[in-house]
Amino acid sequence: MSTIANNIAKVAARIREAAQAAGRDPDTVGLLAVSKTQPAEAIREANGAGLSDFGENYLQEALEKQARLADLALTWHFIGPIQSNKTRAIAEHFDWVHSVDRLKIAQRLSEQRSTELPPLNVCLQVNVSGEASKSGCAPQDVAELARTIATLPNLRLRGLMAIPEPTDDRAEQHAAFARLRQLQQALALELDTLSMGMSQDLEAAIAEGATWVRIGTALFGARAYPSQTVPGQPGA
Ligand SMILES: *Cc1c(COP(=O)(O)O)cnc(C)c1O
Repeated sequence: MSTIANNIAKVAARIREAAQAAGRDPDTVGLLAVSKTQPAEAIREANGAGLSDFGENYLQEALEKQARLADLALTWHFIGPIQSNKTRAIAEHFDWVHSVDRLKIAQRLSEQRSTELPPLNVCLQVNVSGEASKSGCAPQDVAELARTIATLPNLRLRGLMAIPEPTDDRAEQHAAFARLRQLQQALALELDTLSMGMSQDLEAAIAEGATWVRIGTALFGARAYPSQTVPGQPGA
């Protein structure tokens, strides 16, 4: 087995064990492979080993890989910070956007999504770690934002997403993920998605109800360069 196939098997086992420990059906937890900074060939290999959902943070890098992998039936998720001048390409080239954090971005994505495509699946990203993190809307704004986004015609609001501050403290991991779940449960909307949990904390996320875990390092190994300083991708 190749390294990637091996890693997929290990991550799948972690997901299965965490779901079973939480009394959940493992099939209710999706594995989103975060392929930012990884070459197209790594995605091809992961797809050959059974994965079909891939998450990318940088638009230009993602578009290049999508073009090289056009022969594969892949589902593409945008998970990075979104500048408003990037919404058109995101609306055209992705199936999911996990990182919607303000109304203006949601409105542009809805306006720019072709009506010939299915509605764009979106998650509202929430800052559950307070000042320590800059991405995501404030918890007190979730209810109103979610209600408004749910009315936009070419989007389908699926749920909430968070990237809590990394910590090795299990209790803190659980607290942050539980917060996101409680925010979602408080919404009087039919939502089916909690996008939370990464390589380091997927067990806590699954225990608290994650339906997508977003996994990079545990599948593809350490990234060659930090995610925020991709060469040749200024502001991508
Ligand atoms: C990079 C990234 C991940 C994956 O993180 P790992 O720790 O490598 O698993 C998940 N979600 C988002 C939004 C990311 O940017």
